[in-house]
Amino acid sequence: MSPGTFLIGLRHMLPGESSRGGAFDAFCPFGGVETLWAYVTPGQTLKTTNLLNFSVLLVVLGVSLIAGRAFCGWMCPIGTLQDMFAGWARRLSGEKKQIRGKKSKARFPTQFPPRVDKWLRYLKYLVLAVILIASTMSVYPPLYDICPARAVFSFQLTTPLLASVLLTFIVTSMLVKRFWCKYLSPLGALLVVFNKISPLRVVIDRDRCTHCNRCEAECPVDIPGIPEIIRSAECIRCLECLETCAMPDAVTLRLG
Ligand code: SF4
Ligand code: SF4
Repeated sequence: MSPGTFLIGLRHMLPGESSRGGAFDAFCPFGGVETLWAYVTPGQTLKTTNLLNFSVLLVVLGVSLIAGRAFCGWMCPIGTLQDMFAGWARRLSGEKKQIRGKKSKARFPTQFPPRVDKWLRYLKYLVLAVILIASTMSVYPPLYDICPARAVFSFQLTTPLLASVLLTFIVTSMLVKRFWCKYLSPLGALLVVFNKISPLRVVIDRDRCTHCNRCEAECPVDIPGIPEIIRSAECIRCLECLETCAMPDAVTLRLG
């Protein structure tokens, strides 16, 4: 059974009128966060969200409890799309063939200087805070008009604003690898805490590591100095480092 079929089935199993039907937005885990305040206080979900948002959010939180930000690395379609646009940019800017474990020589996507990158990564926490505050006084989810997932997957570019969001998302993904995930994603910001407490984690054996930096070249979210900071809040548990490392057992996945 595909995940989509599972979610549609889940939607119809939930009790209450608001679990039936609903917009594309009802499938968004972050919609569950945006609508939480409205549901807890007046007892109604925000427009375009419904009880399904809570079920999807619970699944995401369950995965995160065990495997940290693995949702970002394995399940979020927005991440896959950004990687696809980055691949286009590499080809358009001169890369003929990508060699695994080697830093791309293509001009794009590029990286900000480390200091700028470090500060920009805090932006997503600000985005999360603003959305949480706005959700206490909104009728629609605060991200409704500016959500890239909605711009891409709802197949309804109903406003010029949403069309510009889509264009901006494509252009930024081509210019900077995983721009949305690294700097803006409020769901990513929310899931950071699970990287600290989840039992499933990537471990590097420093005695076996040769500091060849193959893992750094492959990391989709450009975590600098991977062998030193594998417990980084930025790690999306994609396991590219484990796949890429040529040293036996230098990178392993451990539970506990
Ligand atoms: S963990 Fe593996 S790929 Fe990464 S620097 Fe060490 S030896 Fe190289
Ligand atoms: S450190 Fe490894 S698991 Fe984490 S995001 Fe980078 S490549 Fe993926």
